[in-house]
Amino acid sequence: MDFITITFAYKLMIWLIVASVIGVYSYEAKFLDLGGLVAAMMIGTIIFISGGLRWIAPLVLFFLLSSILTRLAASSQKSRKVEHSPRTAKQVFANGGVAAAAALGYLFYPETGMQLLFLGSLAAATSDTWSTEIGSFSKRKPRMITTFRRVDKGASGGITLTGSAGGIGGALLLGLSGMLIFTGDSLSYYTSIAIYIVIFAGLFGNIIDSLVGALLQSKFVCGVCATMTEHRLHCDEPTTHKSGIIFIDNEVVNFVCALSGGVFAFIAAQNL
Ligand SMILES: [Zn+2]
Repeated sequence: MDFITITFAYKLMIWLIVASVIGVYSYEAKFLDLGGLVAAMMIGTIIFISGGLRWIAPLVLFFLLSSILTRLAASSQKSRKVEHSPRTAKQVFANGGVAAAAALGYLFYPETGMQLLFLGSLAAATSDTWSTEIGSFSKRKPRMITTFRRVDKGASGGITLTGSAGGIGGALLLGLSGMLIFTGDSLSYYTSIAIYIVIFAGLFGNIIDSLVGALLQSKFVCGVCATMTEHRLHCDEPTTHKSGIIFIDNEVVNFVCALSGGVFAFIAAQNL
């Protein structure tokens, strides 16, 4: 066994320990259901194998902080229980699939563009999750991003000042975690530009998320209580399609959010 193999085996051991602890905790804390747990472990392992522990840090940061925020938001308003059930495999892939693909891409194309695709998609996912969860603490009703009319809390495309501040915070945090990935002279001019790109990619993805949520996401109305909802079931009854494109649900919107953040950063990297 040569040095590199031993180092990899050693790192793999650290990853397996970290993954087991976070996995068991996330499942116990109901951050994830069983399918979500398997999906998250797959994504984590792909990213570990492609990029090592440095690439795992932004992923873990996104996952743990977003899950904790979701939990805090849920306990502050019990009425929105439906929105805060454990994340499913579909939801996990919607948020982390682009990041996993970027990490795989980096194996074959180890360039800044792939690093930025990875970080940009996670920044967008983080920014979006943070603005949703922090925005739920807002005392004011959100305004629709397209018309600026007041809408109900939790409506897709609705934005608040509090939520926007949360979204900026999420993008900033993910951007700064990029320092771990850009190895070597971590405070060089080049690195700081890359970090700014990640932050703007996060905000860009978040805005795209709100726009797609407002204009294209399918919305349903409940026949029992007349509430507008994103869900196909409400009050235990099937809902009726009201507006938007039928297959564009919350997961599709989240996937578009992560993808647009990643692509924004990837394109910006070509001009670095
Ligand atoms: Zn209802």
